[in-house]
Amino acid sequence: MEVNLHPAVPDLDGAAHPEANGHAPAAPTALRTFEFDLPVGYVDPEGRLHRTVVLRKMTGREEALMADRAYQRNGGKLVTDLLHSCIVRLGDLTRNGRTTVARLYSADRNYLLLKLRSITFGSELETTYTCPNCNETIQQTEDLDALPVNLVADAASPDEVYVDLEDGYVDREDQVHVSLRLRLPTGEDEEAVAPQLRKNASLGKNALLARCLRSLGDVPRQRLEAMGPKILADLTMSDRRRIDRALNEHAPGVDLTRQIDCPNCGHEFKTTMDLSRFLSLE
Ligand SMILES: [Zn+2]
Repeated sequence: MEVNLHPAVPDLDGAAHPEANGHAPAAPTALRTFEFDLPVGYVDPEGRLHRTVVLRKMTGREEALMADRAYQRNGGKLVTDLLHSCIVRLGDLTRNGRTTVARLYSADRNYLLLKLRSITFGSELETTYTCPNCNETIQQTEDLDALPVNLVADAASPDEVYVDLEDGYVDREDQVHVSLRLRLPTGEDEEAVAPQLRKNASLGKNALLARCLRSLGDVPRQRLEAMGPKILADLTMSDRRRIDRALNEHAPGVDLTRQIDCPNCGHEFKTTMDLSRFLSLE
């Protein structure tokens, strides 16, 4: 069921948004709308790929969304509603509602969130890292627009990630399965696992990966489905890290991997930029 949480915001059809006709918008809307190409893109029910998105700056309406306590239980829903509110146009779609935004790949949604932050507040973001060697807190200013973005080639099948596990999954016959195939998560996945994620980050991740798991070695399909998130819980921590790395480094979207040099002890380390509070208003 489609629930319109924001009756004040018209659906994304051209009629409701004069700037959504695909031509250069007249001022002052021109200053508020920006065009971007999605790293993956949205494939509509007819199989057509849509990659161009026109975003507008966030307003007081989105500020109210972010402050709404009802969303604290489901970050995925907040992202869907924020983007639904700020996407002026998605590809050639004449109309797209909340469901379309929920079906976008997380890689595209995260990319759009970064751009939303960047066009509204500027691209500089103060971030904090902790040195794993000496525990020093390192403050750094990141330029969101300078982060590398992995784009999927138009013809490529964009939505799968392959991981070779080191230890693998050991089944009841003591057979080891090492090749893991995942589809890319979407906003619908984020929304579905948000309750588990809120209780326990690790269990939330298992639930997300289980939804996205397409195959694991020769484990039969029905066995995978019966095991669900438990199969991910059985993997070693180093294998779980491999999966994270594959999703962060090789999957399409913004590469949030950062190479940090600790000014205190000289230790160099790789880490992932924390975006959990990056939309905060201060
Ligand atoms: Zn250090």
